[in-house]
Amino acid sequence: MKVIRRAVKNPRIELVDGEIIVIAPRGVDVDKLIAGKKEWIERNLKKINEAREKARREIKKNGVRILDRYYKIKRDCNNARFSGSYVHVCKKNSNSLRRELRELLREDMTKRVLHFASKLNVKYAKIFIREQKTKWGTCSSKKNISFNLSLIFLPEWYRDYVAAHEVAHLLHMNHGRQFKATLKKLKVRIPNREEQLYAWYYARESKERLKL
Ligand SMILES: [Zn+2]
Repeated sequence: MKVIRRAVKNPRIELVDGEIIVIAPRGVDVDKLIAGKKEWIERNLKKINEAREKARREIKKNGVRILDRYYKIKRDCNNARFSGSYVHVCKKNSNSLRRELRELLREDMTKRVLHFASKLNVKYAKIFIREQKTKWGTCSSKKNISFNLSLIFLPEWYRDYVAAHEVAHLLHMNHGRQFKATLKKLKVRIPNREEQLYAWYYARESKERLKL
């Protein structure tokens, strides 16, 4: 458990990668807070574990999915790269693989952003690929869009959803009614909570397997 003391109005508990994180101002009794939320915590930790196990099984069975194609993992320190139906991985030498994935994702997401931006008749400034810890994407007031490198492991419909979501933010910087109406116009499938959780752990597990 990690306790972050911050002057927030409402203390909250987050479960990040199965770790309990409490964000509360000084003076709040953390143990009491946890005790009051015990059932919620247990239920959600269980869901996280199930999603993680399901992702592990899936990757073991089919290999890692990169832009909708499946690759078997081969340990090969001389050559971190793709080749045919294999992806060669090595912790000591993951930079070239990381660069390759970055460029592939940038190309893929740019295509999606252009498509949705033209539908709404909006312009974006730049697209960045980052390795964010908690988000799939962000959109700044300068109209720069950042995407999480781990999106490369998600299916096409999910990448479409994240692209459309960030493009809708070019018009509305919050998640209010107008934002939702705009997103609806783009006609993408919106993942439910279970799909969101699974996507997160599938991507996380994939990244770990590729030693990125
Ligand atoms: Zn958003």
